[in-house]
Amino acid sequence: MHSLCTGDAQYTEGVYALNRVGHWWNHSSRSANTAERDWAREMHEERGTSMVRNTVEQVASAGLATRYGQFTMHAFVDAEHKEHLALTVGVVDDGEPVLVRLHSECLTGDVFGSYRCDCGEQLDDSMRMLQAKGRGVLLYLRQEGRGIGLANKVRAYALQEQGYDTVEANLHLGLPEDARDYAVAAAMLLQLDIRRVLLLTNNPTKIDGLQRNGIEIAGRVPVAIPPRPQNVRYLQTKQDKMGHLYPPADDVVISTVAGND
Ligand SMILES: [Zn+2]
Repeated sequence: MHSLCTGDAQYTEGVYALNRVGHWWNHSSRSANTAERDWAREMHEERGTSMVRNTVEQVASAGLATRYGQFTMHAFVDAEHKEHLALTVGVVDDGEPVLVRLHSECLTGDVFGSYRCDCGEQLDDSMRMLQAKGRGVLLYLRQEGRGIGLANKVRAYALQEQGYDTVEANLHLGLPEDARDYAVAAAMLLQLDIRRVLLLTNNPTKIDGLQRNGIEIAGRVPVAIPPRPQNVRYLQTKQDKMGHLYPPADDVVISTVAGND
């Protein structure tokens, strides 16, 4: 199986330990020993990363019957009190690589079926695919509008109607082109005892974001996108300016679905 990059094993092990420490801190009945905690802090200082960002608390799990099939949903709360969800299908903690989709909240696409982006279709197809495989995880991350929030997304849309592309619009508003952060996603996976993933994505930032936070990328599953007249410029901009990889790719191909990142 093609591996994109397994990274430095020692660093990965270290990050995994950091997330474990964060997990312990989140559960008052268990506490990390002082030596490991000091070591974790030193490692974070050395790497310039935030320990807080890497901590999430898994608060509850329950079944969720959907039109796609049966999932188990796991609710998490991060250090900024944002609530995130993981939907799992089948056994995901057996150490084998797990098919994983990171989906960032998009109210307009996910709920209203917007054609400005293809998030809604991508979510729909990801859930369908996880059920078809009978094993996998969808992380639903609360970082609306590539992390800039709903109101700013609408501001950016208004600028796009004046001719700006999706990146130019964000920059014109003084916002980053992509403010999403995948440290929380990695911490959620680690708490689900998932360390090796087959990532369903075209977005190299997601691959890098998980790797830097202790997740091994065992392969990438590209997503195939049928563009629509309403979003063809948006998709082109992501390819040209944000480095999105579009199929065909030389990575692992399990299957293709419509959608994008
Ligand atoms: Zn969207």
